[in-house]
Amino acid sequence: MNCVDCSIGQYKLREHCGVFGIAGSRHAALHAFRGLYALQHRGQEGAGIVSTDGKSLYEHKNLGLVNEVFKDKRIFEKLKGTFAIGHNRYSTAGETNYINVQPITINFKMGVISAVHNGNLTNAIQLKKGMEEDGSIFQTTSDTEVILHLLARAPSNELYLMIIDALKKINGAYSLLFLSPESLIAVRDPRGFRPLNIGKLGEAYIFASESCAFDILGAEYIRQLEPGELVVVDRNLNLQSFSPFPPRENRICIFEFIYFSRPDSTIFNTSVDKVRRSFGRQLAREHPASADIVISVPDSSNTAAVGYGQETGIPYDHGLIRNHYIGRTFIMPEQDIRDADVLIKYNPVREVLKGKRVVVVDDSIVRGTTSRKLVRMIRQGGAREVHFRVASPQIKYPCFYGIDTPTSQELIASQKTVEEIRAYLDADSLGYLSKEGMLSVKELPSVQYCTACFDGAYPV
Ligand code: AMP
Repeated sequence: MNCVDCSIGQYKLREHCGVFGIAGSRHAALHAFRGLYALQHRGQEGAGIVSTDGKSLYEHKNLGLVNEVFKDKRIFEKLKGTFAIGHNRYSTAGETNYINVQPITINFKMGVISAVHNGNLTNAIQLKKGMEEDGSIFQTTSDTEVILHLLARAPSNELYLMIIDALKKINGAYSLLFLSPESLIAVRDPRGFRPLNIGKLGEAYIFASESCAFDILGAEYIRQLEPGELVVVDRNLNLQSFSPFPPRENRICIFEFIYFSRPDSTIFNTSVDKVRRSFGRQLAREHPASADIVISVPDSSNTAAVGYGQETGIPYDHGLIRNHYIGRTFIMPEQDIRDADVLIKYNPVREVLKGKRVVVVDDSIVRGTTSRKLVRMIRQGGAREVHFRVASPQIKYPCFYGIDTPTSQELIASQKTVEEIRAYLDADSLGYLSKEGMLSVKELPSVQYCTACFDGAYPV
């Protein structure tokens, strides 16, 4: 949560990220590296790890993919100790700079502390302004630093109480990990917008945004951190759990299930695959099609497309192949080849598409530009008809809690009707999953969800 390109007033804060923490392993930093590698989809702009041996904090971070940032394995010799936290940072091109790469580490009256954050604060700008007027100097444009400033000003002499004191002043979404030489502290905001999970690897405790980061280590998933829960793991690996905030109605981010998390992950104590597949099935019930094959837009919609195929009985096939080797740093040649971005990422399988009536399932439409190019690509691949199906409702409102979405003006569904979108995409038909249908699937845990991107009902 930390970018400075704004659309709440003069700013737009946006960021979705991955966080990882480990307490009690002699390979702490190496495990953090592997955990971040599994969480790479949550942020590709920068990565970092801070470790501790109980005396000092040791840090390495940079812009780039996890593998690039930690390419030189000698780095791990410097990242000493049995406790570590790490972060994958997401931001859009042009907003990225080194100073915002996490973990963010500060020195204060209690010593040294480092933090990683997934989410978005909604009152960070006001808090920061007030502190700047009081003379505070900020090093980054990240609101994670705002939390650290609040913490440093807290009256208590116990770290976890200082964190509680700081968090009581902030609003919005946060899944946070703090590392000091004495302890690792994990906390999730009282509405529970973003996921955070606890796992175990032998004696070690692990914290991660998604359980796929446990699987890569052969660690065991234990449970989610509950909304509003704060957990402290000390050097003796004693784990203490606190519920320091007044209870709030949950506002779990439904978009984590729709698009953001990996289908092989468990988040909010629930399998993403199960939920995403059932969104596909519900979509099929609401918007069936007469077609020969169902294809997905790989990879994020594979699971929903399988669900659509299962429900309708239309065979699921691979009609688009995705190139997995497009580095984050791929530089587009001066927009001289129209559609180049989609051509670079996807290619149609002509043998699969030729002469077919095709249902293409995507998890979401944001601006509509990708979908439009895909419809053309599928037609050029030989499809006779293209029926576009979307496994989420129409995204009409920007997210202020940690998912990167553009402004309303850029969101196609806030500007056009479904029929106008269909015409823009040049699809033979278009169907979106309804909000009611999405919330009705029995695989979804029965809690309250944040659906602000669909209905504008902002909980904070
Ligand atoms: P668009 O061309 O903007 O409509 O892009 C739609 C595609 O972006 C879909 O295939 C989604 O899988 C993907 N998508 C949805 N939400 C996001 C997001 N927050 N960040 C990046 N990609 C997204």
